[in-house]
Amino acid sequence: MASYTICCLPGDGIGPEIIAEAKRVLERVAELEGFSLTMEDHLIGGAAIDACLAAGEPATALPAATLEAARAADAVLLASVGGPAWESDDPAAPRPEQGLLAIRSELGLYLNLRPVKVYAPLRSASALKPELLEGVDLLIVRELTGGLYFGAKERIEDAPGAGEDGACGVWCSDAMEYGEWEVERVLRWAFECASRRPRGRLTSVDKANVLFTSRLWREVAHRLATEWPEVDYEDLYVDNAAMQLVAEPAHFDVICTENTFGDILSDEAAQLTGSLGMLASASLGRGTPLFEPSHGSAPDLAGRDVANPLAQILSAALLLRHGLLEEDAAARIERAVERVLEDGWRTADIADETTPADRVLGTRAMGDKVLEALV
Ligand code: NAD
Repeated sequence: MASYTICCLPGDGIGPEIIAEAKRVLERVAELEGFSLTMEDHLIGGAAIDACLAAGEPATALPAATLEAARAADAVLLASVGGPAWESDDPAAPRPEQGLLAIRSELGLYLNLRPVKVYAPLRSASALKPELLEGVDLLIVRELTGGLYFGAKERIEDAPGAGEDGACGVWCSDAMEYGEWEVERVLRWAFECASRRPRGRLTSVDKANVLFTSRLWREVAHRLATEWPEVDYEDLYVDNAAMQLVAEPAHFDVICTENTFGDILSDEAAQLTGSLGMLASASLGRGTPLFEPSHGSAPDLAGRDVANPLAQILSAALLLRHGLLEEDAAARIERAVERVLEDGWRTADIADETTPADRVLGTRAMGDKVLEALV
């Protein structure tokens, strides 16, 4: 029997409540599919900072023991971090979000996947007209550790310039930098992924009419397209892609793009579903893969048993698919979530005025419904 270890990071806010439901679902699906899972909780974010302070140790949002456990595991399941308790005006104070950035970078996770699926029963939650949403099931593959966010940065306080007195005031620059190998490893993944999906379409998004980095991106993409002739490949400029995502979202299958464009397009695409509580994500790369919901720690909902656990449960499905290669188990969870929604069950964030009050469930009860639907 295959056996796997999962490093679970509940974090802060609603994190502990939603990850508890995902763990119950994982345990049950492992039983049904015949593999064994060892799941261990570790500290990250504000919870880690508090534990360090209580032990009289220097505060960190990513303790060494957590990193060690993450490195040793087959996959990491993360909930969310952050909250008002750790906000501070002191720039030197440790922040929960440092734990997130640190774990992604320590594990060498250089690409992010965000599936965006519009579930038929939730179409009315989207800001778009329901007829535009039919068949929307796309995957955004985003480069995660290069480009503008990680390039050279500079700030000059009193720069010379072309202002009235020959001064500019403050001058800043962020360099967008990419090496061919960085582009190639992400695009290779996207081609492979597109070739395995039923529609087999890959849209590579760039700004090759203006940016050198985008010209490199496009060169590499065209070279790789010859290796995957079965993939229906197209290029799109990022401004056009932003427009097409809301004009004709069902056109897209896999979208692959660099870091900044991917950051913006993935949040735009998230709005197609109308709810943050439904979106899962995966970060993959050299080290242990990491899976998490796309939303934050929702401190306003913490401890009230009202948060939607479905994005976390769908992150567990992604973990099974991309982290453990247990496709049947992943598909079983996704079918269960779909069935629960078709049966009309909702958490408060995805309920609307047509939802009867007795169909609106809390976090735990929604977890129960997914468990029942897993069979
Ligand atoms: P958020 O995603 O936590 O919440 C935004 C809104 O969505 C809130 O109204 C919240 O109640 C709602 N929401 C989020 N998840 C939900 C769920 N599962 N079910 C129902 N409703 C849900 O974003 P925010 O309010 O900007 O940030 C709150 C905290 O989370 C901050 O400390 C922020 O830094 C942190 N954060 C963490 C992550 C992460 O851990 N990856 C990501 C974003 C924000």
